This record gives sequence, C-alpha cells and structure tokens, in this order.
Amino acid sequence: MSLSPDAGIPPYGYYDFSDDTDSAAPATPCHAGDSPEEVLRRYWGYDAFRPMQAEIIASVLDGRDTIGLLPTGGGKSLTFQVPALMLPGITVVITPLISLMKDQTDNLRRRDIPACCIYGGMSAHETDYAYEQCRQGLVKLVYVAPERLHTPRFAALLASVEVSLVVVDEAHCISQWGYDFRPSYLNISRLREEAGLEAPVLALTASATPRVVDDIALQLRMRGERRFSLSFSRGNISFLVRHTGDKFGKLLEILRGTTGSVIVYTRSRRRAADLAALLQRQGVAALFYHAGLEVHEKASRQDDWATGRTRVMVATTAFGMGIDKPDVRVVVHYDVPSTLEEYYQEAGRAGRDGLPSVAVMTVAARDRATLGRRLSTAFPEKDYIRKVYDEICRFLSVPMGEGFGAVYDFSPEEMCARYGMDPRRVLAAIRILDRAEYISYTGPLDREAEAMICVGRHELYTLDFDAREDAVMDYMLRHYSGLFTDFVQINESLIAAACGLPQQTVYEMLVRWRRQHIIRYIPRRSSPQIVFTANRVYSDRLIIPRAVYEDRRHAMEAQIKAMTDFAFDDSSCRVAGMLRYFGETPAQDCGKCDVCRSRRLRAVPLDTAELERRLDSFFDAIAPHKWLDLRSLRPYYPHHYDEVVSHIGTLVSAGRLKADGALIAKC
Ligand code: ADP
Repeated sequence: MSLSPDAGIPPYGYYDFSDDTDSAAPATPCHAGDSPEEVLRRYWGYDAFRPMQAEIIASVLDGRDTIGLLPTGGGKSLTFQVPALMLPGITVVITPLISLMKDQTDNLRRRDIPACCIYGGMSAHETDYAYEQCRQGLVKLVYVAPERLHTPRFAALLASVEVSLVVVDEAHCISQWGYDFRPSYLNISRLREEAGLEAPVLALTASATPRVVDDIALQLRMRGERRFSLSFSRGNISFLVRHTGDKFGKLLEILRGTTGSVIVYTRSRRRAADLAALLQRQGVAALFYHAGLEVHEKASRQDDWATGRTRVMVATTAFGMGIDKPDVRVVVHYDVPSTLEEYYQEAGRAGRDGLPSVAVMTVAARDRATLGRRLSTAFPEKDYIRKVYDEICRFLSVPMGEGFGAVYDFSPEEMCARYGMDPRRVLAAIRILDRAEYISYTGPLDREAEAMICVGRHELYTLDFDAREDAVMDYMLRHYSGLFTDFVQINESLIAAACGLPQQTVYEMLVRWRRQHIIRYIPRRSSPQIVFTANRVYSDRLIIPRAVYEDRRHAMEAQIKAMTDFAFDDSSCRVAGMLRYFGETPAQDCGKCDVCRSRRLRAVPLDTAELERRLDSFFDAIAPHKWLDLRSLRPYYPHHYDEVVSHIGTLVSAGRLKADGALIAKC
C-alpha cells in the first residue's frame, strides 16, 4: 500500500514536544522541603487543615496505603492534591466522572498547579497533548477514568513515568457490597499485579459501611493500610421524615416553609419532569435534570440552578456527584432510596457550607412494600434466570454449544415485547447472568466508534489493500494519531465522506479488518449489546454462584432493611441509627431529627387550659349547638393527641361536654 512514512503524525503542529524527556523540568517544583501546611497556604490560601485531612496527608507522605472516609464536603480532594505537590513523581487520580475530572483539573490549573485528565471523549490531539505532558513530567496530577487504566497506551505511560501516588476516588465503587458498584473499578486492582506499581494507594469515599471498607482494602490489595474516618454526623443538617398520603402537597409545604436552594430527588426520569412541571404551575421556579438530557441542556440547567436563577432542581440520582454548591439549604427525597449510603450521599449535598439545612424524606405507607419489591425484582428466582437465558439464546438464534465471543445488538425491550416478559425482571436476570460470566451486557449508550490498529506499522505496509482500503487506512492514519497504541475515537461518516465512499462500505471494511485481526473496532452504537462470554449451555446446567446470587441478595436485604428502618421506625433517633449503620457508636441522639424533636415536644405536658380555650373558639365559630369532630383536633396536637382525647373524656364526665362517637358538642 502507498503510505508516507510519517503517516500517523497529525498534519498540523498541535504540539511540539521533543522526545528528550530528561530535558523537561516540571512546571512546578516539588516541595519536598515544605510542610503540608505551607503548601496549603501557598496554593489554596487556607490557614488550616480540616479535621482528618492532615492525618491522611501524613500517612500518604509516609508511603502508607491509606483509606480516608470523609463526609461529602469534608475536603477529600486536598488530601491528595497537597501530597501530589510534595512528592517527586506524578499522582494518578482514578475517578468515575468525566465532569468531575474536568472541574478538578480546571480548578487546579487556576491555582497554577499543573494537572491534566485523560478520558474517552477527548479528541486525539487533546489526548496526545495530555500524554506528552505526563511523559515529560510537566504535570503533577493526572485524572483518569478506570476504563483507561489498561489500555496499552496508558499502561506504557505508567511504566515510563515515576508514579508517586495512586488515588482511588469514590472508592466504594470497587465493592460489590456497596451501593454503586462499577465493574470497571475492578481494573484498578490489577494495577499492582500487572503494572507492578509500587506507589502507595489512597482510597477515598464519603459513604461506606465497615464491610465495604474491608472490601476496598481487599480489592485494592492494600498492605498494612491505615484507615481514617471522620464521623458521618453532619450536625448542621436536620434529618426529617414526613409520613404523608399527599407527597406533592407536603413538598409544596416544605418549599413554602424554607428559603434557599433545593434539590428534590426522585427515582424516575418521568417523575422528575412531571414534578418540575407541577411545581412550575404552582409558581415555583423549578427545573428537572436526568442522565437522558443533552449535554448542553444539562450544563445550562445546572448553571441556572447553581447561580440561583432557579431555586429548585428536581432530579434523579444522576444529579449531584461533583456538584460543589455549598449553600443548598434543603434536599427533599420524594421517593425512598434503596440504600442508606445513597440517601446519605444525596442528603449530604445540603449545607456543605456548614449552615443549618434540612434533609426531608416524604414517605407514604405504600413505600414499605415498594422497597420490599425492589429485592424481589433485583433477584428473580433462579428458574426465571434460566428461562431468560434460554429466551435470549432463542431470540438471538445462538446454537447450543456455540456463541463464545459473539457480539449481538440486543434490545431487552424488543425481546420482552415479543415474548411477553417483564423488562425490569429480565434486566435483573441479565445482570446476574453477566456476573455469572455467561454473557456480558452493555446497556444503551451513545458512544462514538473506536478503533485501534493491532498489527505493527511495517506489517501494515505489506498488506494487500485495494485502492479503496488504501484510501480509508491512509485517511485514518493521517487524522487519528495514536491508533497503534490505543483505542481512538473515529468517525465513520467523516471517513466515508473524505474517501468518497458510502458509509456502509466503510463500515463493512472496518468489520472485515476486525475479522482479519488488523484492527480492533467498536462501531458507533446507541443500541445495547450482548457479548457471549461462554458458549451456550443447557440452562439447567447454568451455574449461578453463591457470591453472585445468595451473598448479594443478603447484602441487598440488609441494605433495604436499614433503609426501611430509617423511613418507618419512628421510635429512635434517625441519625443515630444511620451512624450505627456506618459503623459508628454515637454517644448521643442528634436532637434535631423529627424523632428527637417530637420526643422533646412530647416531654412537655399538654396545656389543658390552652386546649379548652381552643375548643371554646371552635364552638364559637361553628355555633354552640353544632357538633365538632374530635379528629379535627389531631393536626393541632400531633404530639399530644392521646392526651387531648383523655382530657375531653374528663370534660364529658364532668358534664361540660357531650359526646356521640367521635363527635363532641357543648352541653
Ligand atoms: P469532598 O470531595 O470531600 O466532598 P472537596 O474536596 O470538594 O470535598 O472540598 C469541599 C470544599 O471545601 C472545597 O470548596 C474545598 O476547597 C474546601 N476545603 C477543603 N479543605 C479545606 C480547608 N482545609 N480549608 C478551607 N476550605 C477547604
């Protein structure tokens, strides 16, 4: 084929780095001689560390594996950013959210701290630039998504630079016992074994039960790690549960009785949109937010809310991680979350500035059953899972004993419609089959196509390409750099247009090259896919291991029980219960939650003179001969209603009132 020898190098001079890595001095000198406090003052202008920050930093600088549990807003970022400036090499920060990476690197750069990030959505030039900066020691921190860790290019980078510290942010995502497990996090555990990284690891999270903390240490292959945790208690937040049959009415009441920014969490995208519309109709400035919105819509809504133009954001759980708005005064949970971890994380977005704030959960009687159903939906019976497996194979026509490695576009909805199945249970079964390693399922994504060349440059020149293939490969090499070392985003329609070919031809060509092992290629896709990770077996021979089913079911059962207790047990302090769940032994009740408040109010005896005055005014209002329903007094005496009933009994016995069932009247 006809390729120029410098093909693969971008045609425009975007970067200009020499290969001589030794010649590049770090942009920021490391501060080995400075104390952490000096670095804090110089770069951030803060006078002192917040609780536990200094301890975590000292442990990291001591070269120890460290786990830091700090509540949201506790200042986790500084616990690695300060050491990053003091250590000689680079600090690798693994974090799940791209928006978070960008925010953090922008913030650091504003403080003259050289940092960069590497994630899938960057252009080839941006990626090249970031890699070069790392390679030449020009940055102190590199933020990376867990998926990137094991690409050959990133692995090569790790091998070629001095890594001083590895930080795992949102570390609970590595644990299957947590509430937000992300399989890509398991990649991190291989860093030590396969990449041979010796640097200490710092794992940070805002919410983890003792079991999850143990699992984090295990999964990250930590050795002699030190653990630091700050109490989970957030003294400035009052946690309130409101039992109600009219959630919307209660929500309005909450909004009218408070001031300042609000987040209302719901569990479905539709409800988020509906609620925001209902609120707007009531004159409340509200927007909604969920993962399905276009990127620019998300950004503009977030901005409206963050700047205070819109008071209320009604959102799904997609909203919040990485949102650093300190003055959120109210967080309402319109639906009950599945776990206390999730609840605590979301409620904790209130009052990050330390000022008084409230976290309210509106609870209806039916929510208890809904919580219970989540367990049975997430863990259908094993026979049902076997049936789903058979149906998938039938739907995709996978022959018995075959299928290994095959990739299918697969829409669970379509299958469910055809076979009359419940999509939620089918998806749960698919997730279990995925964990049991029979199939691997990727949900609907809108991802750009990606490609990587798997033959060497010289081998590529010897291939017998026709003119059209030549044109396509030539275009790719000229426009996408890094194709030999990593997956690079490509655009099939641009390639087609540039080479004057129909898009389908380009697609088929790329698929053919994939079959010939010339490239690895993931087409642009928005539809979900299934990959068979094992040949099809008879479904009665499917092995669903304990760790995949029973153990996880028990863990979820415990989580749901804790959440149910929080929402429905009105007999003990809600915060104390939550802290015990997170492994603490609270010395006293919070004094601020609704249970503590009503206990305090109950402790005050009923003011019977006030009750009699109120009764008189009611009877005056309805005229003396009219009957009054005793139960209409309940809202006025939520904490003393029983005593009200008993005092009225005394008035009846004394002949001052007469009673007929629940009705009372003056004698
Ligand atoms: P987390 O990740 O634990 O939720 P962040 O690291 O985002 O919290 O910190 C929350 C806020 O607190 C940030 O605005 C940060 O600049 C600020 N902060 C952190 N540490 C200190 C400190 N020692 N002094 C003053 N402000 C701090």
